[in-house]
Amino acid sequence: MTVGRTWALIIVLAPLLCSWGCKTSDSSVPFRAARILMGTYVEITLTGDEDRARKTAHRVFEELKRVERVTSFHERSDLTELNRQAGNGAVPVSEEVFDLIEEAVRYAEQTGGAFDPTVGALSSLWHFSAGEPVLPTAQQIEQALETVGWRSLELNEESHTVKLGKQGMTVDLGAIAKGHALDRAGEIVRGSGAPGGLVNAGGDVIVVGEKAPGIPWKIGVQDPRDPQGLIAVAELTDCAVVTSGDYERFFERDGTRYHHILDPRTGYPARGVRSVTIVSPSATEADALATAVFVMGAEKGLELINARESVEGFIIDADGKVHMSTGGAPLFTMK
Ligand code: AMP
Ligand code: MG
Repeated sequence: MTVGRTWALIIVLAPLLCSWGCKTSDSSVPFRAARILMGTYVEITLTGDEDRARKTAHRVFEELKRVERVTSFHERSDLTELNRQAGNGAVPVSEEVFDLIEEAVRYAEQTGGAFDPTVGALSSLWHFSAGEPVLPTAQQIEQALETVGWRSLELNEESHTVKLGKQGMTVDLGAIAKGHALDRAGEIVRGSGAPGGLVNAGGDVIVVGEKAPGIPWKIGVQDPRDPQGLIAVAELTDCAVVTSGDYERFFERDGTRYHHILDPRTGYPARGVRSVTIVSPSATEADALATAVFVMGAEKGLELINARESVEGFIIDADGKVHMSTGGAPLFTMK
């Protein structure tokens, strides 16, 4: 069994890289810093004053760490407590976690359940995010599927409580939490007064402002079948770009690729798509939609992207064909 884990899914097309706090004598050269966080390689690029940039980068890294902690369903958190109480009563959670679950449920509603934050029992079974992935038995999948279903999740706005209606039901925010973390990072960069900034978390990127006056940020999107190659370059200001792909966490068995994006109807990895790249002003939305569109497939997925305001993107289907959203062409140069 081979496991493919590609960290640098999107390569920022800028002079690369140094590990922590590059000293730049020329203030027109952006400040850069990088760390391993959220299970991936996180790189921050900030323009403007260097001292401010150093402090801002530090705050961003701390915030990403915090968000990772409160949204993880493996570490001790509101979420693990909520999951432990599944099938019992309503459990109070922080406002942040409540809002994120609420947003996740909204995406579940809007995508006909293709996006489902209650896939936790299934994703735990496949072990994609912790340890070595395994191919579960059909019986295990059937059992886990009984706990999946966002309609059994009840939210109470007043008491900020969440109730998981079935025993074993497990909330997994893995398909949306990184987007939320990036939005928080974007707020910090914006609030710092830096003229421009970019935070790249393993290929999921938020950009603030421009790279330089009149010059957008350029972001390369990885080719799903070539870890070293790009499939597209996006030119963006003030928005997020997020990709979900079958090459991020996968293994192969008897010629079949098994990856981490699961179809909540079958319990198995969704078929028919290699990758989905979404651009949106909200990284949370881009993250949720990238996963949802992947599960929905090229045709229905493209309809969903086109129906949403301020959202563009493209889908690479199982044959390598590109499906571009109506307004996507000016944003992406395909390679
Ligand atoms: P992403 O890489 O953003 O597409 O998110 C994939 C991760 O989200 C997986 O590792 C699971 O933890 C979780 N996940 C898998 N399938 C789904 C799904 N259909 N809906 C919501 N979350 C999912
Ligand atoms: Mg996602």
